[in-house]
Amino acid sequence: ATPMSIMVGVGRGARDGVLVKNAEALERLEKVDTLVIDKTGTLTEGKPKVTGVLPAPGFTDADVLRLAAAVERASEHPLALAIVRAAEARVVPGAVASDFEAPTGRGALGTVEGRRVAIGNARFLEEHATDVALLQARAEKVRSRGATAVLVAVGGKPAGVIAIEDPIKTSTFEALRRLREEGLRIVMLTGDSRTTAEFVAKALGIDEVEAEILPDRKAEVVRTLQGHGAVVAMAGDGVNDAPALAAADVGIAMGGGADVAIESAGVTLLRGDLFGIVRARGLSRATMRNIR
Ligand code: ADP
Ligand code: MG
Repeated sequence: ATPMSIMVGVGRGARDGVLVKNAEALERLEKVDTLVIDKTGTLTEGKPKVTGVLPAPGFTDADVLRLAAAVERASEHPLALAIVRAAEARVVPGAVASDFEAPTGRGALGTVEGRRVAIGNARFLEEHATDVALLQARAEKVRSRGATAVLVAVGGKPAGVIAIEDPIKTSTFEALRRLREEGLRIVMLTGDSRTTAEFVAKALGIDEVEAEILPDRKAEVVRTLQGHGAVVAMAGDGVNDAPALAAADVGIAMGGGADVAIESAGVTLLRGDLFGIVRARGLSRATMRNIR
């Protein structure tokens, strides 16, 4: 590739909200045949909102929200932000937890009013509470409508489930249709539950889904696909997507995403919609045509 045509391509991309950080990304995009894509914040809006609280016996929904928010105030996870906002909207007084811990992709833990409060997915709660099954029934109801269920335990006892909704971006439907038309294989990866993931995948016509996975697994999936000869683009926005973005032939970060995601990617989509991938591929074809 000549430096001149690459520079022209990079300039044209910038006008269209496609920020190309390295020349290889621009060269490889037209050869990509597989798109691995994160759910939360990439296919969806990434602005999760609490839409319900389902307390367990012995707790009120205000208790659950107040104790959960006390821990989530110390976290930067998008789900944490949603919980803190919901608590503040209900003027639940704002305690802050001590001894805060947040193992990535699983949940958060802290001490509030002398009790250990655990918040996160079912696997995480199993490690910190008894009778999680009591919460799972409520959680499955939430997940079956595509929402994310966040489980809460207080002092090792099940306290409740918080339902959080994050709608699919309206532009995602058409963007995926175009990418499929171009022959791309699409694989969705998420740390969220299988039930929630499958609801979203079904709505978008995606039939390859891996759910309930930890961040390292995302990169592993990218490498496995490459091992089978695929040229892989990975699109994501989160801290948990960074290793996979770096492993992909082309990493594509969403403009509003985490700094480490943007740093790990060769391309950033400033407009935050997935048409950016269609545009970026068009740009790659045009650039490579100029070179040949
Ligand atoms: P995703 O791949 O969906 O963007 P993550 O890997 O960040 O998600 O997290 C995976 C799952 O772990 C989330 O769906 C959520 O259930 C749980 N989780 C992680 N961090 C938190 C937190 N701070 N509060 C509540 N739940 C959390
Ligand atoms: Mg995400």
